[in-house]
Amino acid sequence: MDKFNVFVNVNKIHPGANALITFAYADYARKTEKMSDSQIIAEIMTHLRDIYGSKIPNPTSLLRTKWQSNENSFGANSYTAVSTKMQHFDDLAGEVNGKLCFAGEHTHKDYYSTVHGAYLSGLREADKIIGL
Ligand SMILES: Cc1cc2nc3c(=O)[nH]c(=O)nc-3n(C[C@H](O)[C@H](O)[C@H](O)COP(=O)(O)OP(=O)(O)OC[C@H]3O[C@@H](n4cnc5c(N)ncnc54)[C@H](O)[C@@H]3O)c2cc1C
Repeated sequence: MDKFNVFVNVNKIHPGANALITFAYADYARKTEKMSDSQIIAEIMTHLRDIYGSKIPNPTSLLRTKWQSNENSFGANSYTAVSTKMQHFDDLAGEVNGKLCFAGEHTHKDYYSTVHGAYLSGLREADKIIGL
């Protein structure tokens, strides 16, 4: 279920790129961070060969992200756990001493986890700073 179940053909956006993007989610995403490139390629190819047949070749290279262990992210984006309250998003958006302000998708309670949430939070904080 969480394993490489969507493929994006980059050629459609950048002709000649000859690249596919695929995704791993949740527990399986954490597991893949500990897998070698060749293990991941083997797993992905089982899915592609189900779709296109056993004769398709392996990719010539693999470029991968490791959102969970990357020290600048430690995860992909915020999500609401069972115990999450909408107030938590407002808490994260609270400024400190009228001097330190916070934007970011995790501070937007309507559009958390998205690019537009991040963007709108930046506009909100810019307005706040102008008003200070
Ligand atoms: C695989 C994936 C697919 C996604 N797909 C979509 C999608 O289709 N549509 C959508 O709307 N959203 C999508 N998102 C979510 C979207 O990318 C994020 O919600 C958005 O980028 C968050 O923006 P942000 O500015 O809040 O944080 P970020 O973009 O994470 O920016 C935070 C920045 O702070 C930097 N940083 C971290 N720590 C420090 C530090 N100590 N000092 C200095 N800098 C630091 C980081 O390097 C980073 O550049 C996706 C996310 C992922 C991971």
